[in-house]
Amino acid sequence: MIPFLDMKSAYAELKAELDDAYRRVMESGWFVLGKEVETFEAQYASFCGARYCIGLGNGLEALELVLRAWNIGPGDEVIVPSNTYIATWLAVTAVGAKAVPVEPTPAGPNIDPERIGASITARTKAIMPVHLYGEPADMDAIMALAEKHGLKVIEDVAQAQGARVRGRRTGSLGHAGAHSFFPTKNIGAFGDGGAVTTDDAVLAERLRALRNYGSKVKYVNIERGFNSRLDELQAAFLQVKLRVLDSWNERRRRIAALYDDKLSGIPGLGLPRAPQWAEPVWHLYVVRTARRAELMKALDKAGIGALIHYPIPPHLQQAYADLGASKGSFPLAEALADTVLSLPMGPHLPESAVDEVAVVVRHTLG
Ligand SMILES: *Cc1c(COP(=O)(O)O)cnc(C)c1O
Repeated sequence: MIPFLDMKSAYAELKAELDDAYRRVMESGWFVLGKEVETFEAQYASFCGARYCIGLGNGLEALELVLRAWNIGPGDEVIVPSNTYIATWLAVTAVGAKAVPVEPTPAGPNIDPERIGASITARTKAIMPVHLYGEPADMDAIMALAEKHGLKVIEDVAQAQGARVRGRRTGSLGHAGAHSFFPTKNIGAFGDGGAVTTDDAVLAERLRALRNYGSKVKYVNIERGFNSRLDELQAAFLQVKLRVLDSWNERRRRIAALYDDKLSGIPGLGLPRAPQWAEPVWHLYVVRTARRAELMKALDKAGIGALIHYPIPPHLQQAYADLGASKGSFPLAEALADTVLSLPMGPHLPESAVDEVAVVVRHTLG
């Protein structure tokens, strides 16, 4: 049995430190917006190479609150990848703006900067690139476009904590970065959590008010805000997880390199190939094959977990039926949805498991 993702070993490995963190918070009697959140925010900002970090309730609200802080809303357009998890789109439509999908590069999985220009209109306010699967989007090209057209850029870093573009961390490359600490992410909490990183002092201030009912001073509400706060317990756990993030990402990198090696030369199997300038963190190891159903069946029979990220692109979801898109509207995103398969990956996957997976894949497709 090889599970797709081992969710128990993180606690086993870090039990002493996590139990200490738990006890510290429980005994403090302080659970929301206190020194654990402040400490984690400082550490995480520094890790990302950003001036500010604002801890929030989850990744979706991190994306949404940045758009609100920039006063993006009805009548505005935000460019999003056609190939992404639906949360990226949900943030845009939640503020009443229009999500304008742009197709990925031919190699995939991320938004193609060369296609963005054609989708920019007088209403476009922002670009929301996603570093999907832990593979950085082409931020240099995206930032150049944004500068030329006077647009804001918010990175969706939910799957790419610790990744780099030419030595610089994701989350410090756009005007803001939105992070998720959902348990399965590279730096996962033990519950929900999220954050925004930015160098923009004005944005940071506004987010601190927006996450807390629109209030900076207790019972003084300067605007209509929300309740979206990272809690003290999760912040304490995340301090522990942050200490191991780079080394656990390094384990993922080793697994990915082993997959690359063991899966090379199998006919009809596409392997992930990161651009030269990118340092991915392998949130997922995603292969492509037209014979996916057959391969999934064989893996399942061998007791190996494999998942599809994602089987239905946002434009074909019932949730966005009102957009009037149909099959064929975004053929590159649809082709990916039809062929991608995520193999077991994680910091606790034994290297021997890669061999077992590779044997099944080669036997099925080879
Ligand atoms: C997980 C994820 C989100 C949402 O994060 P939550 O913390 O679950 O709200 C947003 N975008 C992408 C690409 C994600 O993978």
